[in-house]
Amino acid sequence: MTIFKVTFAGGALMPTGSNFLVEFGGKKILIDCGLVQGEKYTIPINSEPFSYDTKSIDALFITHAHLDHVGRIPRLVRDGFRGKIYSTAPTREMAELIMLDSMGVLGKEAARDGIEPFYAEKDVFEAMQLWSDTLEYEKPFVFKTDDGDATITYHDAGHILGSGIIEIAYKGKKLAFTGDLGNTPSPLMKDTTLLKDIDYLVIESVYGDRNHKDKDRRIEIFKEAVTTTINKGGTVLIPAFSIERTQEMLLAFNELVEGKQIPAVPVYLDSPLGINITKVYKKYDSWFNENIEKIIKSGDDIFAFKGLVQTPSPEESKAINNDHRPKVIIAGSGMSNGGRIVHHEARYLPDPKNTIIIVGYQAVNTLGRHIVEGEKEVFIHGQPVAVNARLVNIHGFSAHKDSDRLIEFVASTAPTLKKVFVVLGEPKSAYFLGQHIHETYGVPVLVPEKGDMVELE
Ligand SMILES: [Zn+2]
Repeated sequence: MTIFKVTFAGGALMPTGSNFLVEFGGKKILIDCGLVQGEKYTIPINSEPFSYDTKSIDALFITHAHLDHVGRIPRLVRDGFRGKIYSTAPTREMAELIMLDSMGVLGKEAARDGIEPFYAEKDVFEAMQLWSDTLEYEKPFVFKTDDGDATITYHDAGHILGSGIIEIAYKGKKLAFTGDLGNTPSPLMKDTTLLKDIDYLVIESVYGDRNHKDKDRRIEIFKEAVTTTINKGGTVLIPAFSIERTQEMLLAFNELVEGKQIPAVPVYLDSPLGINITKVYKKYDSWFNENIEKIIKSGDDIFAFKGLVQTPSPEESKAINNDHRPKVIIAGSGMSNGGRIVHHEARYLPDPKNTIIIVGYQAVNTLGRHIVEGEKEVFIHGQPVAVNARLVNIHGFSAHKDSDRLIEFVASTAPTLKKVFVVLGEPKSAYFLGQHIHETYGVPVLVPEKGDMVELE
């Protein structure tokens, strides 16, 4: 007897575009509705029609506010979805900022490409109307079906503020979606909650085939790169995701500057979205781990330090060009596939006295990926740009569990697992992790392809 039917509508054999359809008790729900990220926002796959009838979906549950998990929600609404949307409170708040911001980027790109943007501001507002209720960790939410009640529970994923693992319990069976899993212990977040008694697990695999070997030394490497560049009179560029990575960078500078471990230079936070997301982080500061709680109680503002300059307006951003002192620029997007960082890259990458520090995942075909792969010439706005700046890639700042940590994560629920589905990774990561989970726990594993449907009993 089929209890759950799962369709891997997106995020199969790719790390972005998270979108899963779950059917049970006559109801249809979606887990995530994310954008596929590539060289730009308007890649054709994002404007393809959804593979299911959007009007027939009863509810949408969001794991966390990253664009690759929320970026197609307005499109879903535009295409007829009228169910309710659920998430934790910070996810709801940050997702609205993320969707509005991406709309600006989409609008510009679409105008440049001469195509229709695939959603409008009114679709974002309509989505927010459907997104009224928020859920808390470990408080099961009763979801009524045509054949008895199910419960849906969020567990802390420890990935970014508000991130959740979603567990669906129905007819004595439990199905869990990890969303993205945090790189525990994280500078800001609490540890990932371990699962138990799960029958079917859908697990992410962004770093399924690699370990963050430099995690223990990440601050040392960071400090050395910043100090060396400043001493040469250069500029440090840090492309940073607006959520979590930006706040982790501010936290790192807060400690290094206040501990007098690096020379005091201007640190520009050149990201309107990053500035606004940081405000949400400050609002939810009780969601941070114990260590951060202590620092906040001692009276320190963890995201503020001497030298920090926030530049929300375009004029303030452009004025950075006139600052010829050694300095640091933190800007989005995190994969350099848009945003203000791209202008700074065009300006600063050709000069060997500058440094670019990569602190996050770089998807295939993005400018960030080209840079991190050591290409000596990249194209920015159609123009060739020489890459002579020093490249420092610090894996340890990743917000994702690495391969060994993913394997460890499965252990707590391994005895009850009937099947594991490996998603949200490039093919080699997903297959490697799948094989490794199978060998470690003897559990059947499937690495689904996009569009695959499975019936679970
Ligand atoms: Zn994420």
